Amino acid sequence: MPSAPMVMNDDPTLMFTNAGMNQFKDIFLGYSDAKDKRVANTQKCLRVSGKHNDLEEVGVDTYHHTMFEMLGNWSFGDYFKEEAIAWAWEYFVDVLKLKKEDIYVTVFGGDEKEGLVADEDAENIWKKHIDADRVLRCGKKDNFWEMGETGPCGPCSEIHIDIRAEDDREQDARELVNKDHPHVIELWNLVFMQFDRKKDGHLEDLPSTHVDTGMGFERLAMVVQGHRSNYDSDVFRPIIAAIEGLSNKQYGKDEAVDIAMRVIADHLRAVSFSIADGQMPSNTGAGYVIRRILRRAVRYGSSTLGLKEAFIHSLVPMLVKQMGEQFPELKANERTIVSVINEEENSFLRTLDQGVDRIEQLLASGEKTIDGRKAFELFDTYGFPIDLTVLIAKEHDVEVDMPGFEKALQEQKERSRGAVNSEAEDWTILDQHMGNPFVGYDKLISEVQIKRYRKVTENDQEHYDLVLENTPFYPEGGGQVGDTGELISENETIKILDTRKENDLIIHKADRRPEDPAGSFKASVNSNDRKRSELNHSATHLMHHALREILGEHVEQKGSLVTPDKLRFDLSHFKQISAEEIDQVNDRVNEMIRSDFPLEEDRTLSLDKAKAMGAMALFGEKYGDEVRVIRFGPSTELCGGTHVESTGRIGTFIITSESALASGIRRIEALTGQAALDHIKSQIEELREVRSAFKDPNDLLKTIKSVLETQKSLSKELEKTKKGAVKDLVPDLLKSAEEIDGVKFIAQKVDLDAKSMKDLAFNMKSLADDLFLVLGSAQNGKALLTVMVSDSLVEQKGLKADEVIKAISGEIKGGGGGQPFFATAGGKDATGLENAFLKAKDCLG
Ligand code: ATP
Ligand code: MG
Repeated sequence: MPSAPMVMNDDPTLMFTNAGMNQFKDIFLGYSDAKDKRVANTQKCLRVSGKHNDLEEVGVDTYHHTMFEMLGNWSFGDYFKEEAIAWAWEYFVDVLKLKKEDIYVTVFGGDEKEGLVADEDAENIWKKHIDADRVLRCGKKDNFWEMGETGPCGPCSEIHIDIRAEDDREQDARELVNKDHPHVIELWNLVFMQFDRKKDGHLEDLPSTHVDTGMGFERLAMVVQGHRSNYDSDVFRPIIAAIEGLSNKQYGKDEAVDIAMRVIADHLRAVSFSIADGQMPSNTGAGYVIRRILRRAVRYGSSTLGLKEAFIHSLVPMLVKQMGEQFPELKANERTIVSVINEEENSFLRTLDQGVDRIEQLLASGEKTIDGRKAFELFDTYGFPIDLTVLIAKEHDVEVDMPGFEKALQEQKERSRGAVNSEAEDWTILDQHMGNPFVGYDKLISEVQIKRYRKVTENDQEHYDLVLENTPFYPEGGGQVGDTGELISENETIKILDTRKENDLIIHKADRRPEDPAGSFKASVNSNDRKRSELNHSATHLMHHALREILGEHVEQKGSLVTPDKLRFDLSHFKQISAEEIDQVNDRVNEMIRSDFPLEEDRTLSLDKAKAMGAMALFGEKYGDEVRVIRFGPSTELCGGTHVESTGRIGTFIITSESALASGIRRIEALTGQAALDHIKSQIEELREVRSAFKDPNDLLKTIKSVLETQKSLSKELEKTKKGAVKDLVPDLLKSAEEIDGVKFIAQKVDLDAKSMKDLAFNMKSLADDLFLVLGSAQNGKALLTVMVSDSLVEQKGLKADEVIKAISGEIKGGGGGQPFFATAGGKDATGLENAFLKAKDCLG
């Protein structure tokens, strides 16, 4: 089987695939039947968040990656421990010719507290193949596997290998198994699923047992090629060599340099594969994780390798050359990957500079510790890892308030967790047989029974998840939102708030528990919303086709949202879509609407046939063997969504916005049907109002342009007049001066704005060299103060405008600052101006 996408769409507990078993969860949970009972595959995994988070190890050690390939063989209710162990042994010893003397295996040794017995079956099977003293019993942490807090689980058996050098083998390898030794490492884990963990913690036997094995491809390559670091194998060597070339530094001479090169080589893969699967770097969720991985690589490049300019994107073509054949999504998206990484690198390098400025500011403040919150801000906003902040601070003899930092970090974690604070109880099962087919392509109402239900508490709000024997409710997917509607029985009506698919199960979010769950119900979809979604979904297909016709074949769908109200579509395109092009797309789509193409639907085509018909498969999307194809005239798409019977129903289509989503990715929003018409009408109405405001001119645009011209010249006039008025004030002000100790002290209220006061002050300054001028003004209830001191007074008397401002601005309930010869302040209280003048005079004192 091919690898499933690395970026998860239909599992609320995971952002990324972190193990081979993720894509088979529905089978293990008993939601779907396995089509094939035996499967083997390689799965792209990313371990950077949640339960498996190896990020901090990556690069520092030589055998953990963020993104890696997990090889696996699977039994769905077929073979079990006996065969799985025998075959693993055969593969390592007979096929790969690994040395028996280097291999150790672990089995589950039991756990009294949990009431779990040791896995003697596995132990005895192993002893048929390998010396008994190489079979080690280990605890629950390493040798009991669980899918999550509830669900399938069971003992596992790991195969470890000793790859230490001959002269490094004093210690018995048995003591190093599962002890994070870089040269005694786990290669392969055989998981035997035999139990089902219930919400209250007790275990039940699974109706049928399964095997799930996972073996790290990169570690295997290292071992088979006789190396002691994954990065020395031919999986990584070419990338490391390229980084050596770019940085003019050699790998293997200096540990800090080596770590940096490993981090970059690893992260290049993680980020490229994520983007190929459709996950753009962003500020939230999975996108934020990707952004942080990339930033980690940029920072290592810049601080350790001296690579101060964007360079990671330049490594992409060689990665594509290396892996693009096995993973065609890389090849197909090469240009997008390069362009997105390049833009991300450049924007981060800019923030990195700002971050350095910010640290310097903090250090210049003279404080001996950097506040934890400020360190967190550096981390969060500028992507500065805390160790870097600590390092820079230390160079200046400054400490970082670590408890404060930890606290801020914790608070942020809680904030983000808050968003998905959801707890589900065990399913109450009314009928074990799942079935659960979607009948909503053909009808919006269906007679149903409830098969299972459970209570879910989400941020203190309760609702019930329901699974039905069949359902007309469309579960969110392919961009189209889930259906809403009602379940109706003789005695009650239950609201369905949303519908989604989880591990292949269609789940209805109900506002409450049915009073009689075993009763019969009429499931009825909110047809008004559904129909409006259909207009938008079919229009999305037409627009996709038009975009490829008008902009070119490089246009690929990068994301889509279809709701009853509007449609949104993200596509790869490397410059702004011009107004003329938008216009052409509008025309083309509306032309296809008027052609009234009928819906041609084929629900069970093979993927190959569908592709031959011209349907494009999307990367990052999981397809079964049989796919559904939707055609409207020239448009052919693989699609599971619901559609109009013929394009004429869409009525009207209009694009309302076009913008940049990321480098190389554009976002279009559009409306259809009545919403499109309403939009057009409101634009016409607005235009009518504008025309009438301008007294219905013949040429509106010309009129507006000339009004703007007039306004511009009037402001110039006004500016001149103000300057004149300022000059006119000078003689009177000078006359009002009070001579105190050789200083001409002037304090006056004027009716001027801030800029004119400044002009006035500078005018005065050029007229006398012993002035101490304080101007006050009240504008819209707010008070302004301006202080000017002649240079000679600053030098000889130490009279400073900025100090004066500080001393007097309290009188107007405000504050300000400036320089020794000129300073200003604003405040809330204009009645305090006179007192401010008196205080200023005291400054002469
Ligand atoms: P370890 O203890 O070495 O972190 P694990 O117990 O987390 O391994 P599993 O979850 O059992 O590993 O994954 C199965 C196999 O996948 C491992 O035996 C190993 O070969 C590989 N593997 C696990 N994590 C990584 C990683 N971060 N990078 C590369 N390979 C990995
Ligand atoms: Mg691990």
